[in-house]
Amino acid sequence: MSFLLYGMMPEYEYTTTVEHLFTHCLIAYPFNAFSRDNPMKNDYNKDCITKDEFKKILWSLYQNNYCLVSIYDTFEMKNGIIVKKPVKVPIGKKALILSFDDVNYDHKKMGLGMVDKIIVDSNGKLATSTIVDGKEDISYSNEFVPILENFVSLHPDFSPFKDMATINITGYDGVLGYRTQSKNTINRKQEIEKAKQVIRKLKQNGWNFASHSYGHYHMNKLTDEQFFEEVKLWKDEVEPLVGQTQVYVYPYGEWQVFDNYGNISKKHQSLIDAGFELFCGVGMQTYFSYLPNKNGNKVLFMDRKVVDGNTLRKRDKNLYAFFDPQAVYDYKVRPSV
Ligand SMILES: [Zn+2]
Repeated sequence: MSFLLYGMMPEYEYTTTVEHLFTHCLIAYPFNAFSRDNPMKNDYNKDCITKDEFKKILWSLYQNNYCLVSIYDTFEMKNGIIVKKPVKVPIGKKALILSFDDVNYDHKKMGLGMVDKIIVDSNGKLATSTIVDGKEDISYSNEFVPILENFVSLHPDFSPFKDMATINITGYDGVLGYRTQSKNTINRKQEIEKAKQVIRKLKQNGWNFASHSYGHYHMNKLTDEQFFEEVKLWKDEVEPLVGQTQVYVYPYGEWQVFDNYGNISKKHQSLIDAGFELFCGVGMQTYFSYLPNKNGNKVLFMDRKVVDGNTLRKRDKNLYAFFDPQAVYDYKVRPSV
């Protein structure tokens, strides 16, 4: 018997159409980031967006009826095979995953325009901490974590099931601004404790994590043995912090799933053996499907559209369904290219 017999309209529907946008940590201090003598300025101008661009993008996504869903609700294991799982959205809304790469706040980039770390403030709220002119600046509006949380608190229907976004994380220089890695770390134990406190709060608030490899190497340039070691380092050093994840996000979007004969490559098999089930690449076309292959291997793959200085400047046509890149672009602060 359908609900309609009772005169009730269903409020939700299920869909396998899921969009996925990603960017990097935001440019929090644009005048510093783009100053003439900043060695990172060209990289930032290519690969990153500013905090104000991000705020405009969120508003536009919301107006275009996107709502946030968790990447973990889009797939499941059925009879030993990974399959796409329809996700629930309110009628009239479109499912969207947001993700953020390289959220380690590399110590080499400190003081160059990004925040230093994500913190839990004395009231238990997520914020950022950055040393600016020798003083700590605690902010709630210059990085994606507090900005998105604030947006969702103002517009709860942007996140109908209280899902935030996915943080794609490496391990070679710690996580979230804490130097948790085994190599060259002072006070590692304390850093790990602080990172865990932030991660606990993020998870409570609806954030989730995916692996972005340990060392952010080009997959094709590593030997099989080097790659296995990378996977092991992730399992040993990062998984104990963020918990087990079934999602693997390729650094540079470079993947090597099959060998020359169309079989699963040894490198990819090591990822499957480590528990990864959904694999994410980079591509401006929507792709959430099985990779084409000769031998009937089922590898579930999701492409992610990149939102960065380059795709905004190029006014990539694939972005218009989400926002107008020209209207978002921060002409005031970005240097001309
Ligand atoms: Zn990356």
